[in-house]
Formats: sequence, structure tokens, C-alpha cells
Amino acid sequence: MSIKLYNTLTRKKEEFIPIKKNEVRMYSCGPTVYYFAHIGNLRAYLFMDNLRRVLKYNGYKLKHVMNITDVGHLVSDADEGEDKMLKAAKRENKNPYEIAEFYMNAFLKDIDSLNIDRPEIIARATEHIDVMEKYVQKIIKNGYTYQTEDTIYFDTSKLDKYGVLSNRNVEEQKAGARVQFDKNKKNISDFALWIKAPENHIMKWESFFGKSYPGWHLECSAMGYKYLGENFDIHTGGVDHIPIHHENEIAQSKGFSGKLPANFWMHVEFLQINGGKMSKSLNNLYTLRDLEEKGYEPLVYRMFNYTSNYRAQINFTFEAMEAAKTALNRLREGYLKHSEGTEEVSDDEIQEYENKFLEAINDDLNMPVAMSVIWEILKNPKKSKKLQKLLLKFDEVLGLNLKEYKKEENSIKLPEEIQKLVDQRNEARTNKNWNESDRIRDILIEKGYLVKDSKEGTIVEKA
Ligand code: AMP
Ligand code: ZN
Repeated sequence: MSIKLYNTLTRKKEEFIPIKKNEVRMYSCGPTVYYFAHIGNLRAYLFMDNLRRVLKYNGYKLKHVMNITDVGHLVSDADEGEDKMLKAAKRENKNPYEIAEFYMNAFLKDIDSLNIDRPEIIARATEHIDVMEKYVQKIIKNGYTYQTEDTIYFDTSKLDKYGVLSNRNVEEQKAGARVQFDKNKKNISDFALWIKAPENHIMKWESFFGKSYPGWHLECSAMGYKYLGENFDIHTGGVDHIPIHHENEIAQSKGFSGKLPANFWMHVEFLQINGGKMSKSLNNLYTLRDLEEKGYEPLVYRMFNYTSNYRAQINFTFEAMEAAKTALNRLREGYLKHSEGTEEVSDDEIQEYENKFLEAINDDLNMPVAMSVIWEILKNPKKSKKLQKLLLKFDEVLGLNLKEYKKEENSIKLPEEIQKLVDQRNEARTNKNWNESDRIRDILIEKGYLVKDSKEGTIVEKA
């Protein structure tokens, strides 16, 4: 069955046909490792993982590159402000290399615990400075740049068109620009490729331009080229990458080889919190650790993401997380029931589920529809190992790790009254109602139970 993917470049769903017959070459813009990833960032990598899984489910081999931006880029995509990595280094009183090492490992741990498969190649920018240097020198040689005292800029007016993804032209950008643009630039959409490092700049390299460092758009172009060639299949990122970062990557590739780097450009929409923006100043910026502290294992967050298509915004609330937690438990329980089942289910019935599931995921990763097939299987009154196997197969795409889920053999059912108190206490803790939580803990102790708090909530044992 053919796969349809939405391509930002053409603004429509297109049939996906890879350049090589059985292999998909793909590049994903990865994190800037100056702080813990927030749950919005993690949505982007869950999308990336579902895309990988859908392609694999369809029988393709993958060659997938994700970069780690460990050389600080300037605060905004438009090259303004302070270097993120340096800012973090000052904040934590460490050097930028230590900051990058620490937060890269934290990021990898986060994606592992969300069961996101690691791309075949994870490429750190700082380990590819020489690749970037060669890349930029070819762009210079091809005549797409100009140089000021301290910066080599890409001259976007040299292209037939700048803005093929966002479909804006340079004149429109000028008219719409609210910020004063750097007087050294010839065109508002020009951007820095290589920059001379000020004396106190820690991350700098000896290069053709003296002690200097690369502009942040360059790493994706250069590393994409190194591992995937001049033209590959898919490029992914968040919607915020469309107007600047990805336009600039395209500009660089045009300047380098005259080609578009990727045929398909796919972008994931933003996660919102309680209907609004997530930000540190609003105190609503959550990491995976924050969710775990509130009693939600990472896979509950993965499950929550399946309530929306990746091209639609998703609204994060704790009510929705609670619903995802219940749904994941239902799925696990249903999976176990089928694994113990002995009833016969016809091959036709299985085939019908398979078709519906494949149709959903191959329709631009329509996960909400794919999940509706899962619920149909769970509701099937016949309990059968065939259905259990089918759920396991579908879990190759869902990534909910069902195969790890086994009934706890030694778990003893709590008396109904005690279970009710445990549930009430968990709810009180979710609502940060600490007085109520303590009150219930005291009742449980009085009734002869030891009370412990864990990631999964209250745990009680007979004292
Ligand atoms: P950064 O580390 O800032 O480069 O961001 C990493 C990824 O997270 C990028 O692909 C962004 O597009 C994406 N991203 C940032 N904020 C959100 C959000 N609220 N929802 C979804 N994706 C986001
Ligand atoms: Zn990138």
C-alpha cells in the first residue's frame, strides 16, 4: 500500500516514493543541548519516531541522521541575541562543553524512556567543524556570499527564489519586518554562515577565517550532505523551522550543489499548555521529570500524543494526561486478557484490522484513527492470542512497549476500601492538595499499612 505524506514544500499530501528503492534517507533537526528538553520539544521527537516506525513497518530500511547542536547558536533563528550555550554556561558556572555533555545525555535518556528509537547516526556539531568549513568554502567559491569585517553572510538575492517553503519573497519579508535588521546585511533574509569569534568567546576554532565559529544553520546542511548526500528523501523539524532555519538550509544547499537537500519536508505542530504558550515565565514549562514527579510514566505522555495528528496543535492539560494514563492501563489490561485467550478469530477478521491500521498510518501518520483500530480490537468479545499478536505487531508503530508488560505475579489485590483511599490520595497529589494527601496517608497508617510515594503514585504494603 502506498504511503501518503504531507509535504510542506508542495503544501499537499503526496505519495512517498524514496529515491533508492528500499532505503529511506532522512534528516531530523535535533536539540540544542543547553537545558532539559521540555515536553513540546519531546513531541517533535515522538513525531520523528512515529515516522521512522511507519516507514519500517512498510518494509523500508532507514538511514536517519539527527544532529545535536552543541555549539551555541544565537538566541533567535534570525541571528540576534546571546549565544544559548554561553548563557547556560554562565548560569551554571560550567564551561559550554560541560553544559552540552550533560544536557545531551539528559536528552538521550529522555528519548530512551519515551521508547524513541535512536536514529542510525547522531551527529554532534562540534565534531563536524571541518565538514562545515569545507562546505562553506564551496558556497563561497560558488559566489553566494559576501564578507563583512567579522562575518561571512549568505547572499539570498543570488538565488532564483528565497522562501520556497514558507512561500514568501524577500520583498514581502522586508515590508513585514518589525525589527531593524543588521546594517551590515544587504538583504533582510541574508544570514551568517561563519563568524569571527570575539576574544572571550569560548567555543571557537582556527579556520580559514581566523579564530571563528559556524552559523547555526550550517551544521544541518553540512552533516546532512556528509551522511546522506546532496539529495535525500525526508527532512523533519518543528513548524518554527519553516520560515528561517529550513529556508536557510535550502539556500545553503542551493549555494553548495544547486540542489534541494530533501524531496519531502515534514513539520510537526506545537504543543500548547492549557490553550496557551508554554514558557518559563508562565511557570508552565514541563520536562519529562516534572511529569514523572506528578505520577505519569513517560509512556503516558507518548499515549497522550496519539490524541492528535502531528500536523495539528495539541493542548496539554493534566486532565488529558489522566485520560491517557487510564487509556494506557486499559490497553495493557486488554492486551493481557487477549494473551490469556483461547477463542478462535478468523484470518479475515485479522486481515480487516490490519488493513484499517495500515490505511490510517499510511495516511500521513493518522495516529488517532490508528488508535481507534486498537480500541476495536480491545472491545472484541473474543479473547484470542491472535489478537494479542496483532496488538504486538501494531505496537511496532505505537512504541508503547507492550511486550514488556506482564502481569505482576506476586501482586496482591488490596481490599476495596484501601484501594479507594489510595486512589483518592493519588488524586489529591495530582491536584497538589498536600493536606488531603497527608490526611489520607494517616488513615492508611492507622489501618495498618506502610505508605510510600513512587513515580507511579502511592504504594501501600501491610505493615
Ligand atoms: P530546540 O532545541 O529549541 O532547537 O528545539 C527542538 C525541537 O523542538 C525543534 O524541532 C522545535 O521545533 C521543537 N519545539 C519547540 N517548542 C515546541 C513546542 N511547544 N511543541 C512542539 N515542538 C516544539
Ligand atoms: Zn536543522
